[in-house]
Amino acid sequence: MGLNVALIRPKPHRDSIGLQQFMVCEPLELEYLASALERAGHHAEILDMILEPEHRLLRFIDSFKPAIVGFTAYLPHVKIVKQYAVSIKERNPKIITVAGGVHAEVNPGDFDGAFDFIAKVNGIRTMVAIADAVAAGAAVETARQAIPGVWNGTGKTYDLETAWDYPFPDREKTARYRGRYNYIFHEKCATIKTSFGCPYRCSFCYCIEIARHAYFERDIADVVREIKSIREKNVFIVDDNFLVSIPRIRQFCRLIDIAGIQKHFILFGRADFIVEHGDIIRLLQNHGLRAVFVGVESFKEEELTGFRKKTTVEINTRAVRLLDAMGIECYSGIIVGANWGKEDFDSLIRFLNQFKQPLINIQPATPLPGTPLYEQSRDSIVVSPEQYHLWDMAHQIMEPTKMSRRRYYFNIMRAYYKTGTGARSHWYVLRKYGLRIYLRIARGAFFITWQYLKLALWG
Ligand code: SF4
Repeated sequence: MGLNVALIRPKPHRDSIGLQQFMVCEPLELEYLASALERAGHHAEILDMILEPEHRLLRFIDSFKPAIVGFTAYLPHVKIVKQYAVSIKERNPKIITVAGGVHAEVNPGDFDGAFDFIAKVNGIRTMVAIADAVAAGAAVETARQAIPGVWNGTGKTYDLETAWDYPFPDREKTARYRGRYNYIFHEKCATIKTSFGCPYRCSFCYCIEIARHAYFERDIADVVREIKSIREKNVFIVDDNFLVSIPRIRQFCRLIDIAGIQKHFILFGRADFIVEHGDIIRLLQNHGLRAVFVGVESFKEEELTGFRKKTTVEINTRAVRLLDAMGIECYSGIIVGANWGKEDFDSLIRFLNQFKQPLINIQPATPLPGTPLYEQSRDSIVVSPEQYHLWDMAHQIMEPTKMSRRRYYFNIMRAYYKTGTGARSHWYVLRKYGLRIYLRIARGAFFITWQYLKLALWG
């Protein structure tokens, strides 16, 4: 007998500084779970708490009456999903709770004791197996041991599958939210995943830990079939690094042509690929590429080396300039070190202002548990891993060594306001995207400024 399964994405803690002000991506992982569960004969519904008021959670549980509730979570959401699980169990102790998502895959122990099941690997297959086991009346303890992907302590082995043979994500399950899924300036934006992991080994990168340093790809014809089924004009390819294989990209473009697809694409890519393969970037542009997120990370060679980034400042600079010249939007990710002084922030501002239109995301270095950077930086970390909501890539996790925390936050704000969010950016957004999108972005920028201002004033 099929079960009702509720799939929930949490609302971030009010003190987290989140990019939700600028982007709310569709919960692709939950849509994948929904389609696989339904194919197995269960009935799944998705509740996106980012876009719902707090009180909706229990009302939804009361009306949908799920036998199982599954949660997805990043690190800042761990405490929140634990609280959700407690309140759901209080409502009905018979409901089975499952934690999954990228944090559970690398740090499953953080969820120990708070959920009936924790999905450690192969989330989709594992969730279906849990639902089937619960429907068959299996005891939780027995199922924990028997289902291969379920976390049951370090004594069990967990084999990651690298073949991708799942049905397309069920985007109808988020139909009521889809008008509000966006990525920065790109409104009504769908997401798609075409590959997993990355061939590189940057020391701060969490994505490669999820894929256990493997890199594997979906069949590109299958990807294009999925794109054809997407209604939105804007499609964000959420691969950790889409710019890996030239034959695959060429094939992607060929199939896009054959299918007559006309979409706008946004993707993540590396600077060295962009510089070395301008012709491929042009080809992608001719097939709808509109924006690339490039991990520029630093203007200092020694930091890039320390991050094992395997690019140089010169390559990064050339990549941003090339995208600028081609009219492709470039979002640059910058990591600011805990050992930065005022002169470093001054240099960062000068570095970014050499670009025509710097669109940037500045993050204090955040060594995420499970990465090599975390092991290297353990002694400098001053925020406990249990203060989950502060691990948002915006709060200082390590104590600044050359200035106070308040001064550090002030300098982050200063870097934003003297570069990416200065007057010319306002004009750029207004001219290119119109008043409505400008106002949404301005509202988000104001909110984040207010959060940083509070930290700069009161710590
Ligand atoms: S290139 Fe990007 S995705 Fe690949 S390891 Fe480095 S940070 Fe991660």
